[in-house]
Amino acid sequence: MNVMQEITKYGHEKILFVNNEKAGLKAIIAVHNTVRGPAIGGCRLLPYANEDEALFDVLRLSRGMSHKNAAAGLDFGGGKSVIIADPSQKTEAMFEAFGEAMNALGGCYITAEDVNTDCDDALIIARKTKHICGLPHISGDPSPFTAIGVYQGIKATAKVAFGSDNLEGRTIAVQGVGKVGLDLCKHLANEGAKLYVANRKNKKNLEIAAEKYGATIVSADEILSQECDIFAPCALGAIVNPSTIPNFNCKAIAGAANNVILDLASGEALKARGILYAPDFIINAGGVINAAGEAAGNYNEEEVLKKVNNIYNTVEHILTESQRTGEPEGVIAERFAEECIDAARK
Ligand code: NAD
Repeated sequence: MNVMQEITKYGHEKILFVNNEKAGLKAIIAVHNTVRGPAIGGCRLLPYANEDEALFDVLRLSRGMSHKNAAAGLDFGGGKSVIIADPSQKTEAMFEAFGEAMNALGGCYITAEDVNTDCDDALIIARKTKHICGLPHISGDPSPFTAIGVYQGIKATAKVAFGSDNLEGRTIAVQGVGKVGLDLCKHLANEGAKLYVANRKNKKNLEIAAEKYGATIVSADEILSQECDIFAPCALGAIVNPSTIPNFNCKAIAGAANNVILDLASGEALKARGILYAPDFIINAGGVINAAGEAAGNYNEEEVLKKVNNIYNTVEHILTESQRTGEPEGVIAERFAEECIDAARK
């Protein structure tokens, strides 16, 4: 991959490649955009097949964070980092070396937990750098805040799709009842929604969803075509693609998973089927809003919740605009985020 060509294409500001053999650390930190403030985005640890794959992922994810943070109204830019390793190879030395490496960026990148990194790892990174948020004793696990934002986004989606945001009696199919999905079930059930749930591995969470929230368990294959009002993807990305689009049996898709739509053509095909879509980086911003509350200093949960609840208004705005212009929701959302960045630039 031609690195300079790639970062020019996506408009990145800085990329830091880290190789610390003693600590067993190979990492890439991508700072996409700092127009609105220092870049915030998590540190993902995966056994990437090669460096190109890791670079591709960090470039795409960091750009996504610029959009997510700007659209959420945060005074932070977008960045992301990846550590190339198998989760079984995690060591304290690796995370300490990562924290030290981050200091070279002088605070223009602030990290947090992501896939395969947790609060314990964050505490180790924090021994070496202050540019970290999501620490257990301050803002903590972002998942409950992500779930609240998704719940608000689902209500806004219902309002646009059905004329009312009351979820009582609405049928909602939740794909993936992990940290976010299970918490989402709680909020939906509290409002009287009828739930269908599926999960690939965690049987215990399925049982909790059934017992506590009255959810009906369906198989991981069936959930995609489950007849329902709203399908809530809370497991994987790219689940809206040419092979799944004909099978959806819902009026709208709104959930926590990142990169839900495979590509622009899939977004257009979903729109052509008349299925509404709440863009992922708008609806799942609750977690980063919470982390940003810590990064800004003086963490205040009440203030954080106000911003998370505002996801309702943003989702409603995007869906309404999409209905007005006929463009896919994802296109409107990206434009909205770019406008938020431009406004700060001016
Ligand atoms: P998680 O790993 O706790 O839960 C995901 C669950 O989905 C797992 O239990 C897994 O077994 C299940 N699953 C995987 N494939 C499945 C399939 N095909 N069908 C049904 N279930 C399947 O993850 P999470 O933290 O709850 O995050 C869920 C999604 O939301 C992810 O895509 C994540 O990137 C995204 N997200 C999470 C946060 C957050 O704060 N945790 C923030 C933004 C976005």
